[in-house]
Amino acid sequence: MLETSLDIQTIRKDFPILGRTVHGQPLVYLDNAATSQTPDQVVNVIVDYYHRYNANIHRGVHTLSQEATDAYEVARQKIQKHFHIGKSHEVIFTSGTTHGINLVATGFTSFLKKGDEVLVSAMEHHSNIVPWQMLCERTGAILKVIPMNVEGELVMEEYHNLLSENTKLVFCNHVSNALGTVNPIEEIIEGAHKVGAAVLIDGAQAAAHIKADLQALDVDFYTVSAHKMCGPTGVGILYGKEAWLNKLPPYQGGGEMIAEVTFEKTTYADLPHKFEAGTPNICGGIAFGAALDYMNGIGFDAIAQYEDELLQYATERLLSIEGLKIYGTAEHKTSVISFNIEGVHPYDIGTILDKLGIAVRTGHHCAQPIMDFYKIPGTVRASFSFYNTKEEVDKLVEGVERAKNMLL
Ligand SMILES: *Cc1c(COP(=O)(O)O)cnc(C)c1O
Repeated sequence: MLETSLDIQTIRKDFPILGRTVHGQPLVYLDNAATSQTPDQVVNVIVDYYHRYNANIHRGVHTLSQEATDAYEVARQKIQKHFHIGKSHEVIFTSGTTHGINLVATGFTSFLKKGDEVLVSAMEHHSNIVPWQMLCERTGAILKVIPMNVEGELVMEEYHNLLSENTKLVFCNHVSNALGTVNPIEEIIEGAHKVGAAVLIDGAQAAAHIKADLQALDVDFYTVSAHKMCGPTGVGILYGKEAWLNKLPPYQGGGEMIAEVTFEKTTYADLPHKFEAGTPNICGGIAFGAALDYMNGIGFDAIAQYEDELLQYATERLLSIEGLKIYGTAEHKTSVISFNIEGVHPYDIGTILDKLGIAVRTGHHCAQPIMDFYKIPGTVRASFSFYNTKEEVDKLVEGVERAKNMLL
């Protein structure tokens, strides 16, 4: 057993899905970087919502509407507290990270002009590349890339060289979903602010492993998806500094986001409602709050320590397989291992692993530029959560060995 204060077997009982079989084999779920599993404590909150107080929020005077509104706003406060955000109206509910990034990228259209520069890291998820390319197309701003080295770390000297008074925005993920690299966002934020640029950090991959203190980071925008941290799909948050959120135009028009509407002129609602047009994922928001309660109940320090032990163990064991190469060997990593076996296509390994009940991701992981950098079509990615075990790592290693023997 690994040295951990966590009682993993008891924790696993909160996740009935971990007890199922796939192709007659016990499920080994190692695709946590794509989405995490949802504990009963969160599922029960979802069921309770639909059993007892499903209603539209911020509108009705009736009791159910009041109860739903209260629960939704309590969830917003839980999220505020968790990420140490100064004001609850700086928490904008979104459908997830992609939505949050698009909201900011669209909002910046009127702030940028031809020749302005936008910096983006070389290890971004497509959702943190494409919206900025679209923004540059609309405005004539120039997209520049902060390069990475072969270990999968950003080359920070190059970053500082790229910064200038033309830099208006910098975008970077906190943790790379394809490589697991934890980026030095403190230094990135500080550098950008020195030249007067705003910074958006994509926290989608980090939030399940690192409890970010957004006030201490002094970041301008931070995005999270609930489904990567024990919550449901289709909900997340955008944090924005109040001053930025007041300056940005609304993203979508509709109900909820207005103060007054006539056909001549509409005035917008105050934060956060200005950015929350239409009926939101009410139940999802409430469940996101429950997911944070659940993870904080286990404790982020204990989670990080245990996942790091799993990462070290899995890295060592996988590297004992001849011909196996790991992509992303940064000093600071979360529990993501991207690898290939020489002469074998990642997709074939993934297919055989699935037959053995082992769920991994194969492909470019929505980060094609990283694959181009390594000149590979994709990788096999195993990503571990606090509910995974050392025995599951052993099964992965045995499965990869078996796949290798079958394919070579
Ligand atoms: C998952 C992920 C996204 C996209 O999140 P969605 O929930 O699909 O919007 C963006 N960036 C990173 C780093 C991710 O891991």
